[in-house]
Amino acid sequence: MTIPRYKRILLKLSGEVLMGENGLAIDPAVTARVAGEIADVKAQGYELCIVVGGGNIFRGLAAAAKGFERATADHMGMLATVMNALAVQNALEQIGVSTRVQSAISMDKICEPVIRRRAERHLEKGRVVIFAAGVGEPYFTTDSGAALRAAEMKCDALFKGTSVDGVYDADPKVVPTATRYETVSYDTVLAKNLKVMDASAISLCRDNDIPIVVFNIREHGNFAAVLAGEGISTTVQK
Ligand code: UDP
Repeated sequence: MTIPRYKRILLKLSGEVLMGENGLAIDPAVTARVAGEIADVKAQGYELCIVVGGGNIFRGLAAAAKGFERATADHMGMLATVMNALAVQNALEQIGVSTRVQSAISMDKICEPVIRRRAERHLEKGRVVIFAAGVGEPYFTTDSGAALRAAEMKCDALFKGTSVDGVYDADPKVVPTATRYETVSYDTVLAKNLKVMDASAISLCRDNDIPIVVFNIREHGNFAAVLAGEGISTTVQK
């Protein structure tokens, strides 16, 4: 029997992984498939925190470029993450996975506020804790929210579930010879400005020694395989 490398992990779900081909921002079938991947991993005994993005619905920076006031646009982006969190919660609970949503912006009619000790208790009881609204402040992203929650919840690693299979030395859509890193250092990611997570999230992970594993969560079975040390991914580490 192989000993799992990680016990408690944080999964960062980009909003785009919930999108369907049909242009639906939150596609129920796609969300159900992603929930299935998460449930498979949960069933293996991992403690699981999730931070959800909102880019499938609203991105503050993009809206500000078109004339929105930045802080207001970021507030809208954070609200989008709460919608995604509820969608993921719904999909997980429909397949029997117990969850709680905690939002960095209080919304007591629909979810809990972020309370670390309470989140700990949820994990002890076998629940998946879904963190919404990033860090709760404008001018940040949910990548920073993911790094922050991974640090405060003492997660062994941050898994970034996206629709690409890792980190490349160049954009594979532009450079056909681009190659995927198996592992890459935090400093290389920052120096080369590689598209992993934003710089503040990378440095928070570096300073707290939290490996970042980038993988495609839309590939069936890949999340569990990557956790088992197989599957396709890139690990950002020291
Ligand atoms: N956001 C924010 N503060 C945070 C987290 C998110 O202002 O702590 C806003 C920001 O406008 C961002 C949007 O919420 O563009 C959606 O989050 P993000 O772009 O990180 O989502 P993802 O790309 O992961 O889907």
